[in-house]
Amino acid sequence: MKMDRILLKMSGEALAGDKKHGFDEETVRDVSNQVKQIVDKGIQVCVVIGGGNFWRGRTSDNMDRVKADSIGMLATVMNCIYTADSFRSCGIKTHIMTPFVCGNMTELFDKDKAIAYMEQGDVVFFAGGIGHPYFSTDMATVLMAIEVQADVILSGKAIDGVYDSDPKTNPNAKKYDSMKMSDIVDNKLGVIDLASAVLAMENKMPMMLFGLNDENSIVKAVTGGFTGTYVNA
Ligand code: UDP
Repeated sequence: MKMDRILLKMSGEALAGDKKHGFDEETVRDVSNQVKQIVDKGIQVCVVIGGGNFWRGRTSDNMDRVKADSIGMLATVMNCIYTADSFRSCGIKTHIMTPFVCGNMTELFDKDKAIAYMEQGDVVFFAGGIGHPYFSTDMATVLMAIEVQADVILSGKAIDGVYDSDPKTNPNAKKYDSMKMSDIVDNKLGVIDLASAVLAMENKMPMMLFGLNDENSIVKAVTGGFTGTYVNA
């Protein structure tokens, strides 16, 4: 499979490691070292990070959804600033792009600029989701991957793949080695949100899902030894 340009998606929850909230420095440092190895192989990398380690949706029915989602989008900006700085300390040059103005903390998303950065070996973070409420970072992941013509989405989660039932409650749950994006759409599997899965399916964007906290899992997804779930477009 061609992997010249990849989009790495990390859920906020996975970034928090065992702490489940905020950042786990060791986890982020490990991710940074792995991405450095990948970039050094000449593979172009862009990154989307969720916000679930800080904020996900409304905390009460009284809260306006638009306001809650704005906080969620800003949480993804914080995650990208933190992770980009960790990448920098590992010797990777980074840029953070957002769909809205964030002063001098980020630059506005521009597809051509993003591709030019990646072509010179820099890593580009797409923070702030798609900039609209009622969406998720899954949507930003698929949309950005399509726009910048990534070959595949690598999705590092707190869980190590797609199961036929919840492994937390069913010890006999079975992990799929591979599946089709249409399985996710037809059976509303919730691996990624439905609208994002439809977009990925229509644009033939494949996805590899794996446990971010499994040893060397990002490098293995690129160079071999992948043990997660491959989702065919
Ligand atoms: N969000 C949004 N629009 C976007 C992306 C994110 O409104 O385009 C908000 C939404 O409230 C979401 C939160 O940001 O719940 C955090 O993103 P997500 O739940 O996707 O994070 P993850 O679960 O991947 O950590």
